[in-house]
Amino acid sequence: MSIKIPFNALRPTDDAARVDAAIRRVVESGWFVLGPEVEAFEREFAAACGTSHAVSVGTGTDAIALIFRGLGIGAGDEVITTPLSAAYSALAIMMAGARPVFVDLDPDRLTIDPARIASAITPRTKAILPVHLYGQAADMDPILAIARQHGLAVVEDCAQAVLTTCTGRPVGTMGVAGAFSFYPTKNLGALGDGGAIATNDAALAARIVRLRNGGQSKRYHHDEFGVNTRLDELQAAILRERLAFLPHWTSQRRTLAAAYRRGLAGAPVTVPAEFDAGHVYHLFPVLTAERDRFQQHMRAHGVETLVHYPIPIPNQPALASETPARCPLADRICDELVSLPMYPSLTIEQVHHVTAAVQAFAPAQAPRA
Ligand SMILES: *Cc1c(COP(=O)(O)O)cnc(C)c1O
Repeated sequence: MSIKIPFNALRPTDDAARVDAAIRRVVESGWFVLGPEVEAFEREFAAACGTSHAVSVGTGTDAIALIFRGLGIGAGDEVITTPLSAAYSALAIMMAGARPVFVDLDPDRLTIDPARIASAITPRTKAILPVHLYGQAADMDPILAIARQHGLAVVEDCAQAVLTTCTGRPVGTMGVAGAFSFYPTKNLGALGDGGAIATNDAALAARIVRLRNGGQSKRYHHDEFGVNTRLDELQAAILRERLAFLPHWTSQRRTLAAAYRRGLAGAPVTVPAEFDAGHVYHLFPVLTAERDRFQQHMRAHGVETLVHYPIPIPNQPALASETPARCPLADRICDELVSLPMYPSLTIEQVHHVTAAVQAFAPAQAPRA
């Protein structure tokens, strides 16, 4: 069967007219980098995040790396993070010159296990980078308590979590700063790359404003080693329009997730529980010990699935020279994860088609309880 339900749908939908108008506005303005759209987006994004400052950059990876650089965390320092994320989380730590140290997962929540963090702390540890994965916050209260006890900075990877809250608090406001990505597949996506830092620390924001623009304090005065990573005016204008749609899109994602949960009751896959009502459902993963067969079965029913993520970050060859890490829970979970379609324009009828296909899957082994 051909694909009837694609994994994602990235073409503009209910926002198409606003996106077209935003593009036209910028093209006609003749101002393309660090202009009024970026300034307005940064104000509006900070307000949406509940922070006093937002600084836009070229990618989510740069956002993470520049927070560490802005905090003076780099060579010789260690940052504790999760083995289950886009590898960019750890690559960004390395871009800042620091070393990622991996702590295994809470196997139910699928985010870093706070109970395992203390034993990974060394005199070189400077920060913890929890990742708010799939749209759900990491278990922040114990993470913040450990960080306070040991004098560590908490930097939040919010790349999958615009508008996510953790027991009512917005992500990016609990630690010193949050890093966001506007890569097209994210829950607030641009029509290209983009990222931002949200923080209540005015001095950190000011330093990142310099670091993203060549380290300039004023034009042609490069006071420190900065990089060139900026959100362009076109993407900022598009994101301003889309930010206005995001609360509605988020409630659509939550409705779809509830339909998935109802339709998957008793299904031969494990559905991760919702730990926090502030989950924004960037992705909807399930687990099965027979992933290859499951994906083939779903494809035969016209449903496209993807894996987030097939390889724990510490097992990536690019990380081979970093701290060797044993994360057996992440090893097992990365073999079992598979994501079902999840996007605001998905219909309830399509969710019913997907859940019926999942229910028709006949595993060779009984699923784990
Ligand atoms: C996408 C993503 C990143 C990287 O963001 P880019 O904008 O692609 O650089 C980092 N961390 C997580 C958890 C992500 O999902």
